[in-house]
This record gives sequence, structure tokens and C-alpha cells, in this order.
Amino acid sequence: MQKYWIETYGCQMNKAESDAIIRQLKHAGWKEASGPEDADIAVINTCSVRETAEERIEGRLGFYGFLKSKRNSHLKLALMGCMAERLKEEIIERFPQVDVVVGTFNKKKFVELLTSNKEDLTLLHDFLLTEQDEYSFEKIHHSDSAYKAFVPIMHGCNNFCSYCIVPYVRGREISRNPSDIFKEIETLLNDGVKEITLLGQNVNSYRYTEGSKTLDFASLLNKICEKFPELPWLRFLTSHPKDLSQDIVDVMAENRAICRHIHLPVQHGSDDILKRMNRRYTSSHYMSLIYMLRKAMPDISITTDILIGFPGETEDDVEMTLSLMREAGFSDSYMYYYNPRKGTKAYEWEDTIPIEEKKHRLAKVIELQKELSYNWRKKKIGKRLGVLVESVSKKDARELLARTEQDEMLVFAGDKSKIGDFTTVEILSLEGNTFKAREV
Ligand code: SF4
Repeated sequence: MQKYWIETYGCQMNKAESDAIIRQLKHAGWKEASGPEDADIAVINTCSVRETAEERIEGRLGFYGFLKSKRNSHLKLALMGCMAERLKEEIIERFPQVDVVVGTFNKKKFVELLTSNKEDLTLLHDFLLTEQDEYSFEKIHHSDSAYKAFVPIMHGCNNFCSYCIVPYVRGREISRNPSDIFKEIETLLNDGVKEITLLGQNVNSYRYTEGSKTLDFASLLNKICEKFPELPWLRFLTSHPKDLSQDIVDVMAENRAICRHIHLPVQHGSDDILKRMNRRYTSSHYMSLIYMLRKAMPDISITTDILIGFPGETEDDVEMTLSLMREAGFSDSYMYYYNPRKGTKAYEWEDTIPIEEKKHRLAKVIELQKELSYNWRKKKIGKRLGVLVESVSKKDARELLARTEQDEMLVFAGDKSKIGDFTTVEILSLEGNTFKAREV
């Protein structure tokens, strides 16, 4: 029996795509190796969004070079995903330990090759020469027995934010056929899945046209809730502010299966910077969305991404960002400083902010977010909440890790047989961003 080993880096889309590949390999008779030392093929599903992600993967390639020369000479190594798409031939030239490069659009062909020719992996060498297909969605993306699943519904991006590599490595937006989405959800529910997250680089830009009919994201959400009243929790990631409509907010408010949480990346609070980022909205438009969401769902938690240190950013621009953060009351943020990515528009501009200053500005943003996260969470101490139990806590094996509908983490003492189930807890205290709770 042939054995595979898959390492996945980056976003949830990569995770969903890796899960789909694992599922197909298993169904074709492959077995998971205990590690790369023991595998016939190792696949690294890569990320290109930040330089640090690519550096980490280069480090892994060094490890695989050593492994192939000293310990597992028959191992084949495949590099897949965004970094593979971005660097293609350069990878083969620089890293001879890589046997096959699989770009974003050729994943399906690659899996077909693996599942039909599992005894003859030498065929992989010719793969680089194969023509790129159009992106196509897999049928099922989750691993057997998981109680949470990602369901990709759209792929790619048309927005070309000036700092972002995604449109160059993932291509233009494609929306998935709704009947395939419904079939996947049905299979997942039959498998006992409790939480489904609809995925897309700009999930709320979903728009599927067939003949004279068009289904937009609000209608898709509505249809999913109508068709699957037994679905406990429905989430979606990542929303673009320019495509968040009143219709979507209304559908969220009307359907209790849709979790009271939205991740809505603002990136910056200065209109000058937003314009140069090519984000296609202003800070006041963004804030109008926050008010619209809070009016319809007063208990909704809103999280965001903030990018600090963009070329030309002034102290005043940073102050505007801090002020927007206070007004929006984000419950959490993913905060990072700007690093130029080759191939993007902003790469051509001078990176004007010294690294120490970027770190200093970012520290201010992080400090404020800590305060906002605390303010958001402290209101919940003493309350009873329904939660989905995820795993055993890494810090204390006697505790379970669970997540609230509003995407907050908590731990409580409990038995691991509860993993994958809903339960009710009382929130006792807060440590960092994680609640301590007890089951009631
Ligand atoms: S919307 Fe902007 S940041 Fe998001 S993937 Fe597209 S280009 Fe990148």
C-alpha cells in the first residue's frame, strides 16, 4: 500500500483543498504515513501571502533534501499551492529535491494522476509540462469523521489590492455551482458535521449565473438555511467590505443557524491609505457597515485584519486607524506590518517606513486591540452560553477547548467524549483572550 504525507500552510482554502486530496487518496487505497520518513510521496501545500511563509517552506525544502539523500531515497516530493504557482520553474531549478510542482489550477489533474498511477510515481516528473486547467472545485472537502468542515463556494479574486499576491496566484473569481454546494452540505450533515464554514477569498462576492438566473451570496445563504434546517452552525469567510450588502445582513439576522460573527477586514483607518491599497471603500463606508450589522444583530462579534506601515503612512494615518478600531469595537484583529511582495503594485513603491517604526506602530495597534478584546469579553463573565467542543486543551489535558457562536475560545473541565458536541457552559473568568468556564 502506498503512503502519503501532506503538510499544509496558509489559509483555510489550502486546508480545505488538502482535506479534499487526503479524502480522495484514502478512497483510492492510499494510507497516511507516520511521517515523511515513511512516505512514498510528500506533498507540501504552500502559501505565498507573506515572505515569512515562503521562507518557512524553503526551510522545509532543506529538510526534505536531507531526508531524500540520507533516509528515504524513494520519496517523491510535490510542491503545491500558491508558492508553487508563483515560482514554478524557479523551484525546479533551485530545489532539485522537488519532483513535481503543482500550481493552483492543476491540483485536480495531480490527484487524478496519483489515484490512477499509484504504483508508478516516476510519471510525476512530466507534470510540470502539463497545461494549466481552469480552477475546479472538489466534490467534498472535509476529512472523514470531522465535525467541522469548510465548504469552498468561490475561488480567486478580482480586486488587486496593491499589496496582495492572491489575484496573481489564485486567478480571477469563480463561483461554484450551487447544486454542488448543496450536495456537499448534504453529505457533510449525513456524516454528522455540526459546523460548516463557507469559504472564498471574497466569499460575499459569490455570484453564480446560469441562463438568465443569478444567485448572489445573500440568496445562497438563504437557500442553505431553507434547505438544511437541521444545520446547527453556519459561518462564512472572508467577507470583503465592498460587497457586504443590507440583503446579506438581513439574511444573517433572520436565520439563527448563521453564527453571530463576521470577519470583515478593514486593513486601515485612513482613506488615503485605503485608496492606495485599492480597497475600494472609505473608512466612513466601512463604519456604516459596522452600524448596519450592529443594528440588525446587537450581539454580533466583529473581527478584522489591520495592515500597518504601508508606504507613505503617517502618524496621523495610524491615529485614524486607532480611532476606527475604537469606534468599531472589534472583538479581535489579525494585525501585521507591511512587507513588500514581489509582483504586486505596491512592490514598485518605496517602502518608506523603517522596520523599527513599523514595529512601534504595530505595537500601539496591538495594545489597543488587547483593551478592546478585554472590553468585549468581560461583559460575558457570569453568562451561560452554548458552545461547540473542539478538542482537548493543549495546556491542560483535563480541560476541553470549545468555541462560542461569536468565535471566542474557552476552556472547561470535561471528558473528551464531548468533543464534537454542543454543550452549555457558564463563563467564570478570562485569561488573555480565553474564557475559563464550567459546564452546566
Ligand atoms: S480582496 Fe485584496 S487582500 Fe483580499 S485576496 Fe483579493 S487582493 Fe488580496
